[in-house]
Amino acid sequence: MPIDASLPYDEANIFAKILRGEVPCNKVYEDEHAFAFHDINPLAPIHVLVIPRGAYVSWDDFTLKAGDEEIAGFVRAVGEVARMTGASAQGYRLLANIGKRGGQEVPHLHVHLFGGAPLGPMLSR
Ligand code: AMP
Repeated sequence: MPIDASLPYDEANIFAKILRGEVPCNKVYEDEHAFAFHDINPLAPIHVLVIPRGAYVSWDDFTLKAGDEEIAGFVRAVGEVARMTGASAQGYRLLANIGKRGGQEVPHLHVHLFGGAPLGPMLSR
């Protein structure tokens, strides 16, 4: 069920629990600003979620409230994860779902990184 991304941050969301180590994940990468792990229901041979460590509901929330260093660190981490996973060698796709119309289900900002195969059209028609 897509979420209302204008709601306040919910500390009980599943990605907050992963960040706190309360729920296991298949970790790919972590640094000061970002954390990345394999999606539990992969839609491509490479399907990794990259999330900021900070408590941001969505891309909208993040770009309004995060500091420049945090934003730069997160964006660099996405690029690092693409290189680490081998996705960057032949191309990949980034996707962030935001709010109801975007189909966002987990209310902690996450960028999906898809790769490892041709990914087809950008959106279904
Ligand atoms: P979105 O629709 O953009 O909010 O995507 C949420 C993504 O989180 C989906 O692709 C789910 O498969 C993934 N997901 C949900 N719970 C977990 C979990 N515990 N570990 C890894 N991925 C998860």
